[in-house]
Amino acid sequence: MIRSFACLPLLLAVPVLAAGAQVPAAPTPAVPAPLQQAPATPAPVPDPEYDNCMVRMKAQAATRGVPAASFERFMAGVSADRSVLDLLDAQPEFTTPIWDYLAGLVDGERVADGLKMLETHRELLARVEREYGVDPATVVAVWGVESDFGRVSGKRPLLQSLSTLSCFGRRQDFFRGEFLATLKLLQDGDLSDPAITGSWAGAFGHTQFMPSTYARIAVDFDGDGRRDLVASIPDALASTAHYLKRSGWQTGQPWGQEVTLPANFDASLAGRTNRRPLSDWIARGVTRVDGAPLASSDARSAVILPAGRTGPAFVVFRNYDAIYSYNAAESYALAIATLADRLRGGRGLATPWPTDDPGLSRAQRRDLQALLLARGHAIGAVDGMIGNATRRAIVLEQQRLGIVPADGRAGRRILDALQAEAAAVVPPTVTPAPPAVR
Ligand code: CA
Repeated sequence: MIRSFACLPLLLAVPVLAAGAQVPAAPTPAVPAPLQQAPATPAPVPDPEYDNCMVRMKAQAATRGVPAASFERFMAGVSADRSVLDLLDAQPEFTTPIWDYLAGLVDGERVADGLKMLETHRELLARVEREYGVDPATVVAVWGVESDFGRVSGKRPLLQSLSTLSCFGRRQDFFRGEFLATLKLLQDGDLSDPAITGSWAGAFGHTQFMPSTYARIAVDFDGDGRRDLVASIPDALASTAHYLKRSGWQTGQPWGQEVTLPANFDASLAGRTNRRPLSDWIARGVTRVDGAPLASSDARSAVILPAGRTGPAFVVFRNYDAIYSYNAAESYALAIATLADRLRGGRGLATPWPTDDPGLSRAQRRDLQALLLARGHAIGAVDGMIGNATRRAIVLEQQRLGIVPADGRAGRRILDALQAEAAAVVPPTVTPAPPAVR
């Protein structure tokens, strides 16, 4: 939940997000950081600069209730990993339109998985709702978007990344706080494994909280005396609801809804922070997406146009802000909000995104990756995560096929072109596999 800046654009596949925590703005657009591959274990080399820094951190930790002996135990064998500094300063090599985020984050697989989670954890989610006032669909949608229901939570050793970022680079003060918070969670017994992994920036567990948010917000909901957002689903889901409640969640209220704007709508009025009574928007001609009137109220609301005047429009209320605070990016907030709607039986957006090259579901991304591999591109595993290797391969294929622009984007056009080509070259004795039904 706390957002960990900087990464969103990189990878749909790997949210770095962190709940709750307000990370200082990074130079790059805030997009959830993708999960990074775990780096190979570096050979231990003397690093006096890091060692000296750790001596200072050990003293600081002692003032926060982490004795030197504990510090030494938690940090045994941990060395600096300066590759995280490249991620800290990375500018996105490729840009990702919002419809790509939503196509991957709110696809048929995630809806089906979310519905299963609603069923599996029905009783738990009901207790969470009674305690915190946040409905099951919203809690499950956050879980699904943040960590794919606990399946994708980051592979970088947390203490290694955070200790490195505490000593080098341009956000040392911020990361020292996160590093010390992690040590304290270990000291207090909330976390038991110093080898815990997360995003490069420190978000981890089912809910992708940054350590300081974890310290502030996490709750023990299974009653074992520990707040464990890595191994305990009850703790994780209750902590998510607690986060939203603390962020101003209003029980029983909607996050917002898709709307239709009048042709003469002044787009300069749009924006999440431009709040007006709903009745004011209604007076300006904003209606439900089916053209029916909105139920009038004086609720403070905003109109947002995530892809500009020609894409879907939404009216959003206080609960959208609570969701937004979890991971401060419009793409993620809309993913959570619209996934929650799908989990309640909604059919998705009525208005198409303004593109003739729509985004791909994760299943379609895997199909695309398989086609790239078959053409000899070394893109690694078929995992549905579009990283830079996949994008570079797409650029080459776009150039070969004359697709303009050759921007490396994993969209419908390149997938269709490669599928058509693959079907055309199959020897007649071989029956091509039918296209999967999405
Ligand atoms: Ca617990």
